[in-house]
Amino acid sequence: MSELLEILKFYQEIGAAFVEQEQRPPIMDINEITRQIMGCTKCELYKSKKNYVPGEGSIFPDIMFIGEGPGETEDNFGKPFIGKAGQLLDKLITRMGYSRDTVFIGNIVKCRPPGNREPSISEVDACLPFLHAQIEIIKPRVIVCLGRIAMNHLLGGSYSITEKRGQRFDFKGIPVIATFHPSYVLHQKTREGVSKAKWEMWHDMEKALALLGR
Ligand code: URA
Repeated sequence: MSELLEILKFYQEIGAAFVEQEQRPPIMDINEITRQIMGCTKCELYKSKKNYVPGEGSIFPDIMFIGEGPGETEDNFGKPFIGKAGQLLDKLITRMGYSRDTVFIGNIVKCRPPGNREPSISEVDACLPFLHAQIEIIKPRVIVCLGRIAMNHLLGGSYSITEKRGQRFDFKGIPVIATFHPSYVLHQKTREGVSKAKWEMWHDMEKALALLGR
């Protein structure tokens, strides 16, 4: 037994990521969740949406970004964060040393709430099990919640994003950092306001990177 542990320790030392990934569930599992999302009728949002937006990216990511729900552009194309807010998120991801393909980008609800309203509690309750399953399968090393709504629905609290951003929380043993939603940053009224919010967001991402040893 101790010999086995020694061997495992040795493999972890020379290639921990390889050992971890080999133990993870196969791609089929995440495809099954996506398939379930694509046919979901658990709340009324499926009636008004154009496309389901299940989320996309690496299935072995260091980081999973979680937003609130698809907006108009995302609804049109079935992809998360591809509108203006998405362009800001892309820049942030690049600056962090990643790309859209090496992180996972998801949302609390997978269908667009009409007029981009906040998803209702019953809509979130219906959809959240999908996100939980995605997290369970993908096992990101860090979760980044984008905005108050993502943070509060994932963590089950009613926190203020201004107070709690940049602090470490945990979801089922996975560290969680919350930061501003990119739309909040873009909607600041002055150029200084935008710069300040971007800087604060970057500061939060440095915390996420530190959790990854980067
Ligand atoms: N805002 C979100 O919260 N999610 C998206 O996918 C796009 C915009």
